[in-house]
Amino acid sequence: MDRRKFLGSVGIISIAGAATNIAKVSETISNKIKRSENTMAKFELPNLPYEFNALEPYIDARTMEIHHGKHHAGYVAKLNVAVEGTDLEGKSLEDLMNVAGSNTAVRNNGGGHWNHSLFWSIMGKGKGGAPEGDLAAAINSAFGSFDKFKDLFSNEAATRFGSGWAWLIVADGKLAVTSTPNQDNPLMDVADVKGTPILGLDVWEHAYYLNYQNRRPDYVEAFFNVIDWNAVAENYKSAQ
Ligand code: MN
Repeated sequence: MDRRKFLGSVGIISIAGAATNIAKVSETISNKIKRSENTMAKFELPNLPYEFNALEPYIDARTMEIHHGKHHAGYVAKLNVAVEGTDLEGKSLEDLMNVAGSNTAVRNNGGGHWNHSLFWSIMGKGKGGAPEGDLAAAINSAFGSFDKFKDLFSNEAATRFGSGWAWLIVADGKLAVTSTPNQDNPLMDVADVKGTPILGLDVWEHAYYLNYQNRRPDYVEAFFNVIDWNAVAENYKSAQ
């Protein structure tokens, strides 16, 4: 999936088309502007690109169902509420990452929407293994080997205190591993380490607790069996 395709999957739908009451001849210019703003696009929960049970036994169906249908859906709904009627309405999700530092609701819910949209898209049924081609070469160049990358990423995921995400990013044309707290991500103005995420792992307890309880390292190990490296490679290509 290329970058445009990923962003398309994030989902912006037009709700234009509300009926116009032409009888209101006294309507002020400001009201007209307001009505046109109310036809702005809204963010939408993307469909999971596979069945809830597709990632079993590594990630169980019940966790996927709640994670996508409740948690991710909640971020989308709250993001729409947060931007509605403000000058942020109609901005792209990526543009909103630039105002995260000054808007807590956008930071938490816009981040939540972006992060989960990436997360679903870089996993799949019968995936895992190791990357090939340019991405494999870049990983070897940046980290020494795929195994060293895996150790670094897994350690980052395991030691991120509390809730957050582990990332493989492209920064200044190079690969790097980092992590962020809560629903922050490396695109945000507030990120300590900035870059474009091409792979992300959700290490919130809601992502693994039903199956793994407190054993986050086991969940991280299992995640490597469902990574869609072709999707990550496409993200890598787009991020350069
Ligand atoms: Mn999550």
